[in-house]
Amino acid sequence: MEFKLNIGPHGTDDRVVPLKEDVLYDVIIIGGGPAALTAAVYCMRKGVSTGLVTMDFGGQLSDTSTVENYMGYSYITGVDLASKFREQVQQFEIAVVEGKKADSIEDGREKKLRLEDGSVFSARTLIITTGKSWRRLGVPGEAELTGKGVAYCAICDAPLFAGKRVVVVGGGNSGIESAIDLAKIAEHVTIIQFLAELTADKILVDAFSAFTNTTVMYEHEVVEIKGELRVESVMVKNRATGAVSELDAQGIFIEIGLIPNNALVKGLLELNEFGEINVDCACRTSLPGIFAAGDVSSVPFKQIIIAAGEGAKAALSACEYVLREP
Ligand SMILES: Cc1cc2nc3c(=O)[nH]c(=O)nc-3n(C[C@H](O)[C@H](O)[C@H](O)COP(=O)(O)OP(=O)(O)OC[C@H]3O[C@@H](n4cnc5c(N)ncnc54)[C@H](O)[C@@H]3O)c2cc1C
Repeated sequence: MEFKLNIGPHGTDDRVVPLKEDVLYDVIIIGGGPAALTAAVYCMRKGVSTGLVTMDFGGQLSDTSTVENYMGYSYITGVDLASKFREQVQQFEIAVVEGKKADSIEDGREKKLRLEDGSVFSARTLIITTGKSWRRLGVPGEAELTGKGVAYCAICDAPLFAGKRVVVVGGGNSGIESAIDLAKIAEHVTIIQFLAELTADKILVDAFSAFTNTTVMYEHEVVEIKGELRVESVMVKNRATGAVSELDAQGIFIEIGLIPNNALVKGLLELNEFGEINVDCACRTSLPGIFAAGDVSSVPFKQIIIAAGEGAKAALSACEYVLREP
């Protein structure tokens, strides 16, 4: 007897199809994190024609070691949760462009979404879920040496710096968490803190204080990262005296927070003081037919479960718009 896999909304097959330029979709979702993938499932289950444009599947989940606060899983790795989200989306015949960046939007009754490669897709509604990215220092050497000793995610890259001298920029929660991970394996960790004190939670500062291979340089800032092929040293400036000194280091982790990926909608949608897209309680933005959800939006608290919930809400709002607007 021949058995067939159960395809469709409850199966495991990949039914994804390419997004087409000559089709007017009901909804196009931009992003591939928890907000986007949840929105995709909701749109497909509502039966509207749906496209998804994303640079990757997973978003920040790919930088997250373990997740212990997403309901249904008391413990799951970020990568595993991302692949579960992806599998759930792929059970539907959704139209996808993966690995490309959405570049600009032309508003109108039909929204035009232009990608960086020049292709243009059309939809009656858009859901923006472009999330957040690591904030850069913007100093000489940073861009050139990224991936060559300049890193942003200790969870991902700390093991590469075992036995090395490392600088961590930032004394907030992410900086101290990274410093703790690194202090376990690196020869020495120097924290460069802009302010006169660490701003991380006390429990983290206490845990960090237990290490003896660490230094904190308060009221300092990084002014340059030096190295030929890889990071060799970091130039830091004392903000009180202006004195510049050179630290011997083979790695630098920049842990100064995340910024919203708003380039796609800057000048088009209303943003708040943090550069997040202003949304109302139904994920509506300042333009009719354009919705936003997750970390790129002004919704308070940036968490997976919140991004997923907002993605669901944005999808239902977009579907309602499609139904009501002729
Ligand atoms: C290190 C770390 C650990 C975390 N740990 C937890 C945790 O334990 N629990 C928890 O609840 N939350 C945690 N978070 C927060 C959580 O990951 C985020 O709140 C969540 O991922 C936000 O989802 P999102 O879909 O809004 O955006 P993101 O996850 O940022 O996804 C954005 C997506 O949009 C895509 N994109 C961006 N711009 C474009 C463009 N122009 N064109 C096409 N695609 C684009 C990106 O490639 C990405 O796929 C953590 C975050 C980090 C960084």
